[in-house]
Amino acid sequence: MIQRKKLSEVRVCNFCARSCHLDNGEVGACGVRKNIAGHITSLYYSKIASMAVEPIEKKPLYHFHPASRVLSLASFGCNFSCSFCQNYSIAQDYDPYFAYESESINPTNLPMIMEKEGVNLVAYTYSEPTVWQDYMLECCDWVSGNGGKNIMVTNGFFSSVALDKFTRSVDAFNIDLKGNRAFYQKHCGARIEPVLHSISRLISAGKHVEVTTLLIEDLHTLEDVREIARMVSDLGVKVWHLSRFYPAYKMSNSNRTSEPFLKEAIEIARSKDIDFVYGGNSQNISNSLTKCTKCSNVLIQRDQYNVHLINSRIENSKMFCNICGTELFGKY
Ligand code: SF4
Repeated sequence: MIQRKKLSEVRVCNFCARSCHLDNGEVGACGVRKNIAGHITSLYYSKIASMAVEPIEKKPLYHFHPASRVLSLASFGCNFSCSFCQNYSIAQDYDPYFAYESESINPTNLPMIMEKEGVNLVAYTYSEPTVWQDYMLECCDWVSGNGGKNIMVTNGFFSSVALDKFTRSVDAFNIDLKGNRAFYQKHCGARIEPVLHSISRLISAGKHVEVTTLLIEDLHTLEDVREIARMVSDLGVKVWHLSRFYPAYKMSNSNRTSEPFLKEAIEIARSKDIDFVYGGNSQNISNSLTKCTKCSNVLIQRDQYNVHLINSRIENSKMFCNICGTELFGKY
């Protein structure tokens, strides 16, 4: 006799663009969300994989309160399956028992931790906050209720419900744009369309958005960089970080992206209509200078994580060039 699955047992997770249909006892593609007795539950709610105080430039965010310190917080899991993951030990290849047994931090304790650490900014980062958004959003409420700001570092693969929530609760985003359409299918097990939609919607909503591409010389061609640059420009992105890949996870035997390849990619990016293009994980400090878009005067100099605001002034949370008076994009 054929046994039909009872439709009422299946629940749809609305956290990300995968929209996993989960039968009783099933776990989603992220390994984090599970249908338990007809309710989709987060297996590692409030379990902390990593917590650190660090420069905001490390996220990277270059045009949102530069030179500030941020409390970075991560739980476990990711909805992508990138072979080059730089945080695989907490995003993909972690021991579920270890995750379950990890320290738990109640969102109500965040204001106290922020005060102790002397920070006003909290970043949800390292793994993929989209898959632990129930915890993240509760943290956001406590942070903003305490006068702080929330930052999300993400792959941008949001469901429309999640996108609405993040638009309301998060102040600044760094969103990965990992490659072109084929790259997402082949290397991330995902689609590019929801990511492009998220970036576009958040910019339209007036959110602070910076975009990062992890540049992998063994996987990206310069033609790919040209194609991504066109997308970044068409989306109206103002700040694009091109970051050098370090061999990791399933690509630990691959080559590190070279400085000459990064230089060529930056030149391509700067030929497009993108105001600020930066090179990350680079020894060349000229790759991280912020210049006035009108007179090219250097306004912010970064040497690793030492940040110097020069030839500029901040008034009412805005930064201006001291030479020509032009306002710099961002929040200060
Ligand atoms: S967060 Fe995404 S991958 Fe995880 S169960 Fe929900 S829809 Fe699926």
